[in-house]
Amino acid sequence: MKFDPASSVQDHQYFGEFGGVNPSIEDSSTYTFLKADKMEEIFETSLEGCYLYSRHWNPTNKYLSDTLAALENTESAQVASSGMGAISCTVMQICSSGDEIVSARTVYGGTYALFKNFLPKFNVHTTFVNIINLEEVKKAITPKTKILYCETLSNPLLEVADIAALSKIAKAHNLKLVVDNTFTPMIVTPVNLGADIVIHSLTKYINGSSDTVAGVICANNEFITSLSDVNNGASMLLGPVMDSMRAASILKNLRTLHIRVKQHSKNAQFLSERLKTLGIKVVYPGMTEHPQHELLTNMMNTEFGYSGMLLMDVGSKKRAYQLMEMMQEEKIGYLAVSLGFYKTLFSAPGSSTSSEIPEDERTETGVSEGLVRMSIGLDNDIERTYSKIKECFNKLD
Ligand code: PLP
Repeated sequence: MKFDPASSVQDHQYFGEFGGVNPSIEDSSTYTFLKADKMEEIFETSLEGCYLYSRHWNPTNKYLSDTLAALENTESAQVASSGMGAISCTVMQICSSGDEIVSARTVYGGTYALFKNFLPKFNVHTTFVNIINLEEVKKAITPKTKILYCETLSNPLLEVADIAALSKIAKAHNLKLVVDNTFTPMIVTPVNLGADIVIHSLTKYINGSSDTVAGVICANNEFITSLSDVNNGASMLLGPVMDSMRAASILKNLRTLHIRVKQHSKNAQFLSERLKTLGIKVVYPGMTEHPQHELLTNMMNTEFGYSGMLLMDVGSKKRAYQLMEMMQEEKIGYLAVSLGFYKTLFSAPGSSTSSEIPEDERTETGVSEGLVRMSIGLDNDIERTYSKIKECFNKLD
């Protein structure tokens, strides 16, 4: 039977303490024990349904984590206080000094900086590759490689990683395939294609209201349990725990994700096609000319479209800045980093979210100065939005 992430999330039904339709929020950092020996036992193992201290686990975070595991079709999941917290805990859990990572060269700038600048302090080194070129990926793997890392739809270039092919390579070399699925929740289910660990910045589509920073790691029971090990767990010891109040609010927002993703995708598809008719260079995976359109079509779950993200190349930084200021003035959306918000957000990745990547590498990979990354909002009348954008282009120098 086909996997339907929306139904999988829907079936996670919790009751509050008094029969409420939302689960109760566990507003405690620590938990009582009736018997002292039980406390000892939970330190040594982990007792199902028993809680010790909220950096270790919190029932409200567990509700959200379990529902996110249902979304990603993994056995288990653990939420974190940011997407970067999820990424850093994952790689630090897997890698020891001397190990290596092979990563896509176009990844979110913060991930790039973590791999390139920060992890070498712990003698963990990363080789960056063109993830589309599978031969290059294979060549970069050494006996020290532990992780193959990519984003399903890359930030900011919107390249699609062939997760099934990468999974074969990872399995052949005994590596963990870690996939950041932030741009494509519901749209792609990476574990169904062979990924081992799936990460999200919940800050984006999953929460959808740009009111918090949060993350999640979705994986098998063994890996998720290892993260909260009191002696060796990266989540437990580095400590990026999510606050339970926030977990409760993200869980409520997650309930409407399927509807939002469909609308974001529908609007982005419409705008891409229309903007193309104006002669604007648009990159959108839903357009047949996108180099990985076919690939994504074969990888995706039906119904959710090709994402709400599109790129426009307007030729120069000056024009990109002018366009974004005009679009904000026209109330098309906000000149802001981040994505997955109900309003449209736009930024120039070269000077913002990808600025951590050195200029020569940005040029080589195609992150040009005139790029405008658009996270298309939930606009009801997208035809009207298109007319406004067209007006802005007409006024552009
Ligand atoms: N992964 C991707 C693809 C992102 O775009 C971002 C942030 O922009 C992150 C991870 C980091 O997430 P957070 O900002 O929640 O730490």
